Amino acid sequence: MPTYIVLLGPPGAGKGTQAGILSEKFKLPHISSGDIFRENIRNNTEMGKIAQTFISKGELVPDDVTVAMIRDRFKRPDCVRGAILDGFPRTPPQADSLAEMLREFGGKVDLVPFITAPAEALIERLAGRWSCKECGHAFHSKFNPPKTPGHCDFDQSALYQRDDDKPDTVKHRIDVYQQQTAPLIDYYKKGGILTEVNGFGSIEEVATLMNSIMCVE
Ligand code: ADP
Ligand code: AMP
Repeated sequence: MPTYIVLLGPPGAGKGTQAGILSEKFKLPHISSGDIFRENIRNNTEMGKIAQTFISKGELVPDDVTVAMIRDRFKRPDCVRGAILDGFPRTPPQADSLAEMLREFGGKVDLVPFITAPAEALIERLAGRWSCKECGHAFHSKFNPPKTPGHCDFDQSALYQRDDDKPDTVKHRIDVYQQQTAPLIDYYKKGGILTEVNGFGSIEEVATLMNSIMCVE
């Protein structure tokens, strides 16, 4: 039976960072909806052009566009054993669509770690985030610096600061999270699969907490 883990939490909570660690550990693909959008923007696809208009303002990309993109991603063979989902779903209709898609593969969402951190920490983390242009891996100028300044540890590509990580856009993204994504906390609580994880420690401390809640094979 495939294993699907959904990482929930506000922007900057550490979802991508922890998803990378889990992906290595469980040998499951790390699916980041934000990374796929950014790849489409770089490649100037029709979908990327639509997504860009929302992402630049810190708004959510419409559900139909997002769900179609994830449905496409699930068709790739690396998803047969499951996946670590980071940034998707972000609204209750997306969560309904996810449940429906996973039923088609004989799977379900198994676990939802909900990573929390105070708003000031989110803003500081995003202001110092440097992302790899190629693989999307996130570093931090203070909390997780790359070995060679300006270059990714994994593929040596250039690091850049995301436009939507500017403090004003971040504040709006946190509001959007509160309004549109936070209802998923109750959604998954009702399903009995949500576990809160304190994301305010170091990356290693949070990874240890994540480990302690993993009861999947
Ligand atoms: P999200 O995917 O939830 O938006 P990221 O995983 O990209 O968040 O993390 C946001 C920024 O904070 C990155 O620069 C990352 O290196 C850094 N970071 C992640 N986890 C921690 C942590 N526990 N403590 C300090 N910085 C962190
Ligand atoms: P992230 O990389 O997760 O921080 O996402 C960056 C931006 O991409 C978000 O602010 C949204 O504009 C868009 N995005 C990512 N995932 C989704 C999603 N599941 N639904 C709608 N928009 C999304």
